Amino acid sequence: MAMLIVGGGLVGCALALELARRGQAVVVLERAVAGAEASSAAGGILAPRVEAHGDDEARVLGLAALQMYEGWLSSLGGDVGFRRSGVLVVREASPDGDARWIDGGALEAIAPGLRAGGAWWLPDEAVLDTRLLVPVVHAAAERAGAVFRTGHGVVGLEAGGVTLDTGERLAGEVVVCAGAWTARLPGLGDLPVRPVRGQLAALGQVGATSAVVFGPAGYLVPRVDELVVGSTMEEVGYTRGVSAGGLRHVLDHALGLFPGLAPAPLLRTWSSFRPGSPDGRALVGKVPTGWVASGHFRNGILLAPLTARLLAAAMLDGGALPPAWSPNRG
Ligand SMILES: Cc1cc2nc3c(=O)[nH]c(=O)nc-3n(C[C@H](O)[C@H](O)[C@H](O)COP(=O)(O)OP(=O)(O)OC[C@H]3O[C@@H](n4cnc5c(N)ncnc54)[C@H](O)[C@@H]3O)c2cc1C
Repeated sequence: MAMLIVGGGLVGCALALELARRGQAVVVLERAVAGAEASSAAGGILAPRVEAHGDDEARVLGLAALQMYEGWLSSLGGDVGFRRSGVLVVREASPDGDARWIDGGALEAIAPGLRAGGAWWLPDEAVLDTRLLVPVVHAAAERAGAVFRTGHGVVGLEAGGVTLDTGERLAGEVVVCAGAWTARLPGLGDLPVRPVRGQLAALGQVGATSAVVFGPAGYLVPRVDELVVGSTMEEVGYTRGVSAGGLRHVLDHALGLFPGLAPAPLLRTWSSFRPGSPDGRALVGKVPTGWVASGHFRNGILLAPLTARLLAAAMLDGGALPPAWSPNRG
C-alpha cells in the first residue's frame, strides 16, 4: 500500500525521503510547491539549548535532532549553508546550563557590531540557509523514488485514503504533514495546531556577526549574502503579509543591538506561519485517519530529520515515539 503524505514542507519531504529509502512507495500531495510555506521562510536556526525554555523533554529531543543533523545532510548531497555558527544570547538570565558568559575581546571577535556589555555564548548551536534546504531534501526524496504531486490540495481525509480538490480519490496509508493548516483538514479530531505568524526582513550587510544573535525579543541570522532579522509572534489567523508595526518591531530590535546596521539596504521582507501547539512541542503519532507529524512550532527545521526517522520507524517497525510528542497528550 502506498504511503500518502499530505504536505510537502520540510517535515513531509524528510519523511518521504526516509520512507522511500526504506523501500516504501511514497506519494507526497502538496497543494502548491514543495517548501511553499514555513520551511523555506524560516530563519534556519538550530538552537535547542535556546529554544527549550526550561522544557527538559524538548531539550533532549532538540539535542538529539541537532546531533544527527550534519550526518543527515551529508547523506543528501547539496550545500544548504549548514555551519556551527554558535549562538549569542543577549539577555540577563542564562538561557541554558551549557551557556558561558563572554565579553570584551572574545565577544568582539564574534560579533564586532554588537552593542552589549556581554552575552551568553553557546558554541555548538548551528544555522543553515532555508532558501536552499527544501530543494535539496525534495530532490533527494525524488531520487529515492518518492513521487510529488503538486498543485492540488487534499480536501478529504479518512483511514485508508484521501480526496483531492479535483475529486480524485487515492488509497493508501495517510500521514498528515500540513504544517499550520493541519487542523483545517477534516477527520483529525481536535488537534490543537494553530498558525502563529512571524515576520522577517533581510538586510544587505554581512560581517556584523558571525554567530546567530538572540536578543530580548528576536534574533539576527547571518548568511553568506545577507543578514536576516526577525521575528514577530502573532496570532492573526491565516492573514498573510507583513505590517508596519511588525517590521518596526524586528528592525527596532535589530538596530537596538547593532546600531551600525542603520544604513544597510532593506533587501526584502516576508512572513509565514509557524505550526503552533499549546506547549510548543510537536504532535507526532497516531490519529484516527492514520498518522500526523505537525505542530513543530519554532523548531521544525531543527526537528524534521529526527521526526522523519522516528516516525518511519514507528510506521514500519512499530518503534516507540516520544511520549512528549504524543498527539493525545493532555
Ligand atoms: C518566521 C518563522 C521563522 C522560523 N524560524 C525557525 C528556525 O529558525 N528554526 C527552526 O527550527 N524552525 C523555525 N521555524 C519553524 C519552522 O519553519 C516550522 O516548524 C517548519 O517549517 C514546519 O514544517 P512543516 O513541513 O510542518 O510545515 P510547512 O513548511 O508550512 O509545510 C506544510 C505544507 O503543507 C501544505 N499543505 C497544507 N495544507 C494542505 C492540503 N490540504 N493539501 C495539500 N498540501 C497542504 C502547504 O502548502 C505546505 O507546503 C520558523 C517558522 C517561521 C514562520
